[in-house]
Amino acid sequence: MTYANRTDHLKAEGAYAVLAKAQSLEADGREIIHFEIGQPDFDTFDNISLAGMRAIANGKTNYTHPAGTPAFRRAIAMDASIRRGISVSPEQVVVSPGGKPNIFFPTLALVNPGDEVIYPNPGFPTYEAMIGVAGGIPVPVSLVEENNFSFDLDVFDKLINERTKFIIINSPSNPTGGIIPQADLEHIAAAAKKYDAWVLSDEIYARIVYDGQVAPSIYNLPDMAERTIIMDGFSKTYAMTGWRLGYGIMPQELARRVGLLLTHSVGSTAEFTQYAGIEALTGDQEQVDAVVANYQKRRDVILDGLNSLPGVSCQKPQGAFYVFPNIKALGKSSDEVANWILEEAGIALLPGSAFGKYGEGYLRLSYANSVENIERAMEKMAKILK
Ligand code: PLP
Repeated sequence: MTYANRTDHLKAEGAYAVLAKAQSLEADGREIIHFEIGQPDFDTFDNISLAGMRAIANGKTNYTHPAGTPAFRRAIAMDASIRRGISVSPEQVVVSPGGKPNIFFPTLALVNPGDEVIYPNPGFPTYEAMIGVAGGIPVPVSLVEENNFSFDLDVFDKLINERTKFIIINSPSNPTGGIIPQADLEHIAAAAKKYDAWVLSDEIYARIVYDGQVAPSIYNLPDMAERTIIMDGFSKTYAMTGWRLGYGIMPQELARRVGLLLTHSVGSTAEFTQYAGIEALTGDQEQVDAVVANYQKRRDVILDGLNSLPGVSCQKPQGAFYVFPNIKALGKSSDEVANWILEEAGIALLPGSAFGKYGEGYLRLSYANSVENIERAMEKMAKILK
């Protein structure tokens, strides 16, 4: 049998391979502490779940407009004006089942075979996967650890050119927890305008930021709205990973095209899920603040723990719920170290190389886990590293 080669390059996400190995150790009776999956460890807030259940009970179980119900698109546009300070019409909003389709479909709608696409490496693996499916040429840009893991702008300047169609940025970032500084966004925006490139700004962690900071958006910079897609979603902020609910904000003609791709692929996002989404955006937001304060405590505990380990040094993450410690001093590949820590200490975490070749020499831990588990894990790691 033969297959179309557009799927040849696709790989499973690294987290699932580590999870499978961790679960097989658990089946053998080992206790494993999990830091591999990027998923909140609390339940969807009650008011949101109840809104979803009420919608099902009221028969809101139909197809909707492929780009979302008018009420939900209006709610997202309103949220964008309140929270992001931008003026967006509901026609610029495209609702999708999860945030991922709003990476995939804009990429398909914009990238012709042979077009170059710049993206962060280490970065969320879906970017490279989707560029390949669209027939684009992936152009990874390495990150600078000391500058919040922002793009290495010297490398970026060398790689951007007339063939660059699309630039993907992610702030706060998975896997590093870094926020791209305003000055770097201005640099990237100027280059995007010079080379007439689109920008996809993955802002799925925009609400999970620490120490009173905000993650600035490239969308707000002059003349960027006409070439920027904001991708956001409900999975992380509202602990709704399994509901599958996300959206994109983009210029209207692109929104129309992405809407058509949704029409012919998924049809629409579940109607009752969109009712839950309206409640998420318009209901009590103090719950989000409380969860973020909780993550910040965990960040501080894991950061102190990692920085006290021999051969490990870790930048302070400013957002998301990931730490990305540097383990180069251990003199082994990140894959070897991650495997060794799983087998010897019973701690499941990811090698930085699961996020691209420039992630080599790092580990990624998702600290959506209790302070107690974080402390126990740090003790176990200290024991084996000594
Ligand atoms: N973007 C980033 C950086 C992520 O980490 C994730 C999920 O892990 C997503 C996008 C997609 O999330 P979802 O499809 O659940 O909205």
